[in-house]
Formats: sequence, structure tokens, C-alpha cells
Amino acid sequence: MDDTFELYDLKVETIAGDRPFVCSHKEGESFLVQGENLVFPDSGSFSMYALSALLPLLPAKQRVSDTNDWMYTDSEIACPDPNCGARFRITRTGKRVFRHSEVTLVPLNTEEEE
Ligand SMILES: [Zn+2]
Repeated sequence: MDDTFELYDLKVETIAGDRPFVCSHKEGESFLVQGENLVFPDSGSFSMYALSALLPLLPAKQRVSDTNDWMYTDSEIACPDPNCGARFRITRTGKRVFRHSEVTLVPLNTEEEE
């Protein structure tokens, strides 16, 4: 049985906003989202406060969304510090295939029906 599904890989990059940064962000710093993993290729740092604002959005951005959905169109997230001008751009960089049987022990036939 085919139990494959796809999720988008994401890149989250710090970009300049209309005001200076207050936090220790660096323009161009980034991390990747691959399945359940956050990957920091530069071994740099990333603000935990900014990360806390981004985390709830990442699983939704990994999934296919309706083109009318704001989750589809909106890709710049503001720093949670109201005085900080940093923005974080979420970009879908590709798709990755997963198998249901490899990411959960819950069998497919127990899913709720709509
Ligand atoms: Zn900030």
C-alpha cells in the first residue's frame, strides 16, 4: 500500500525591515526545516524569541495550502520584539517524500473521517 506523502522543505532567513534590529539578528542568517528537523547549516545563532514566534507557523508552511489561504501568501514574519525591525522570510525550497509508516506508529485505518 502506498502510504507516502509530501512536505515542503523550508528556509527561514532573517531580512531587514523598515527599522533597525534591536535583537542580535544578522541579516542573511538562516535555518532550514526538513521534516521534523531544524537544520542550522552555518552553525550560527538564532534568537530563541524569534524562533518562538516562527515555530507555530512552520508545520503549516510545510503543507500544501489553498492559494486563497493567508498561510499561502504571507511569508514574512515580524520579530516579536515590537521595537525590532527584523523580519523572517519563510521560503518553500522543495518537496520531500515521507512514508506514514516511518513517521508514526498510528495505523492509517484509525484516522477520523470528515
Ligand atoms: Zn528582533
